[in-house]
Amino acid sequence: MLRLVNMHTIIIGAGIGGLTAAALLLNAGHQVTVLESQIYPGGCAGTFTYQGYRFDAGATLAGGFAPGGPHAQLADIIGLEWPITPVHPIAWTVHLPDGRAVHQYTDMAAWRTERQRAFPGSERFWRTQEKLADASWDVSTRPFPWPPSDVRDLLTLGLAVRPKTLPALPHLTRTIGQIMPQHDPMLTTFVNANLLISAQTTADHANALYGSAALELPRRGVNHIQGGIGSLADSLVKWLERKGGSVRFRQTVDQVTVENGRVTAVKTNLTRRNTKSRLTLPCDNLIANLTPWSLANLLGDAVPSSLQRETAARDATWGAFMLFLGLRADKLPSDIAGHHQIIDDHTRPLGETNSIFVSMSDPADPTRAPDGMRAVNISTHTEVGQWWTLHKAVDDGAAYHARRDQYVENMLALAERAIPGFRDAIELCLPATPVTYEQWTGRPQGMVGGFAQKSIFKARGPETGIKNCWLVGDSVFPGQSTAGVTLGGLRVARDVLRR
Ligand SMILES: Cc1cc2nc3c(=O)[nH]c(=O)nc-3n(C[C@H](O)[C@H](O)[C@H](O)COP(=O)(O)OP(=O)(O)OC[C@H]3O[C@@H](n4cnc5c(N)ncnc54)[C@H](O)[C@@H]3O)c2cc1C
Repeated sequence: MLRLVNMHTIIIGAGIGGLTAAALLLNAGHQVTVLESQIYPGGCAGTFTYQGYRFDAGATLAGGFAPGGPHAQLADIIGLEWPITPVHPIAWTVHLPDGRAVHQYTDMAAWRTERQRAFPGSERFWRTQEKLADASWDVSTRPFPWPPSDVRDLLTLGLAVRPKTLPALPHLTRTIGQIMPQHDPMLTTFVNANLLISAQTTADHANALYGSAALELPRRGVNHIQGGIGSLADSLVKWLERKGGSVRFRQTVDQVTVENGRVTAVKTNLTRRNTKSRLTLPCDNLIANLTPWSLANLLGDAVPSSLQRETAARDATWGAFMLFLGLRADKLPSDIAGHHQIIDDHTRPLGETNSIFVSMSDPADPTRAPDGMRAVNISTHTEVGQWWTLHKAVDDGAAYHARRDQYVENMLALAERAIPGFRDAIELCLPATPVTYEQWTGRPQGMVGGFAQKSIFKARGPETGIKNCWLVGDSVFPGQSTAGVTLGGLRVARDVLRR
């Protein structure tokens, strides 16, 4: 491979997307510096320690490690071993409002039996979904620069198409809602709940190809990560440092210098975490592991008009309300699956505590919790604006705390319904709202999970309007998840090397 000596690339943010791009560029000969605000890497897929627990800050389900999957592709290129153990035989269980529990088996034959039992009359839909998922996952194992930014990308996309892909083409503009039967409200709820956590939208809006691939996640492999999901980012940081890359923590970038239409340097801030050194670092390329809004803020007056228009026009994305819990293991059912999705009422919109996702640490991983305890997360999608309105109210936080306490109560009650003994097992409970997420991740208003994947023709690519500056992370197609941002990182690294 051509090695590019002395090309200096700065990456703002040590999220999975940023670290992936950094590793690939270092591997290709760039000098690489990652600047991270926090004292640990991983962002929304980081793990923090508290009173002997290792809590996952956001992501808890880790896919994309099977051969050809995004994390596996990266590991093959740079020579890395991930600290993973496959979750088997149930990836997670979905508890529907009518009391049905549907097990998301990792094995295809077991899942076919389960879906026929749970959703009679829906087999035709699942067969179509499997075919579309096969095409989507197959394409994602090759370079797939979507959306294309030039003729070369179009040629690459053309080469990615195989006979297997062709049956998917008529579905390019369809939604999952258009291909699924409508006779069973529990099937609709099941599909909607799955899509909300993977495509950030429900069946009537989720693109059929994207949604089909997302519905296949349990069969493509879900994993426990030894030490918590943050061990993925830790592995990448260790690899970068071993190979001569630089990862600087406690360095919040607060200024990007643009001269003659190119980024030439970044400056970091003296924050409460970094009281010693303010850095000014020149660079040849900049990769921003940020949302478009954050990058626009950093660019200030130099923000390109396209980015300015985009950030003014876009609606806010989802936020997360999270509970971090310490639970006594002996008070939980001994054979319980590690992940549960629970929906309260199918006549109400999902999110806002009407649907929750519960993840329990692997009992075989002693690093996650003190002896006899398990580290548990419960999350729900939430609209971010309400939390900021309450947070800013002039009432000493009374309304904000009341809403927070109500969410805690609703979520614990719903968890108890699916997992008897849950409430009684709690010894520690820490809630986090979008206000907390903004503080942790620097993401404006605590917006997490990237854009809803509605139309693939409106997908956002990594372009920023500045030639030597790219976005990476879940704002960029294919969007959220550690696997999604890794695919984005692979694409951005190729773009940087090509330019
Ligand atoms: C509650 C929740 C549950 C989720 N569940 C799952 C799941 O089960 N499975 C899954 O795969 N995905 C899940 N996700 C999504 C997944 O975590 C994210 O899509 C992914 O981790 C985002 O990665 P990213 O590359 O966009 O970077 P981010 O995670 O956004 O990280 C960006 C980093 O940049 C740093 N930063 C920001 N601004 C600056 C600055 N100015 N200077 C320096 N550093 C800066 C931040 O501190 C952060 O470390 C979940 C997310 C949340 C919030």
